[in-house]
Amino acid sequence: MTDETRSFVRERAADLCEYCKIHQRYYPDSTFHIEHIVAKQHDGSDSQDNLALAYHFCNGKKGPNLSGMDPDTGELTRWFHPRNDSWHEHFRLDTNGEVVGFTAIGRTTASVLGMNSRIRVQIRREIFRLQEG
Ligand SMILES: [Zn+2]
Repeated sequence: MTDETRSFVRERAADLCEYCKIHQRYYPDSTFHIEHIVAKQHDGSDSQDNLALAYHFCNGKKGPNLSGMDPDTGELTRWFHPRNDSWHEHFRLDTNGEVVGFTAIGRTTASVLGMNSRIRVQIRREIFRLQEG
């Protein structure tokens, strides 16, 4: 992957994790990953359509997987695809700091990626607090 591609992906995402929408500025000590939406293991390519910017925690939870169990129905559900899906059609950010998935894809992705782990909700609350400043 070229530096040009990395810059392109980072700029396209406006420095936000394309899954949980946390901004890179809140993680000065680590650089968000350029991840393959469909992992190389599953023949995912290096093209810009298959790349997304991801907070290391989201990327780590996602791994090479493409789907998970919907926590409400137990059904196997594909994950949110940052290039093909619209974030706001699957998630909303609650003022309590939680990312609420309101479709099967949203619920499954939020659940498997651990978007509402205690620390991550605390970080979002802190961000809200700073923004209200
Ligand atoms: Zn994320």
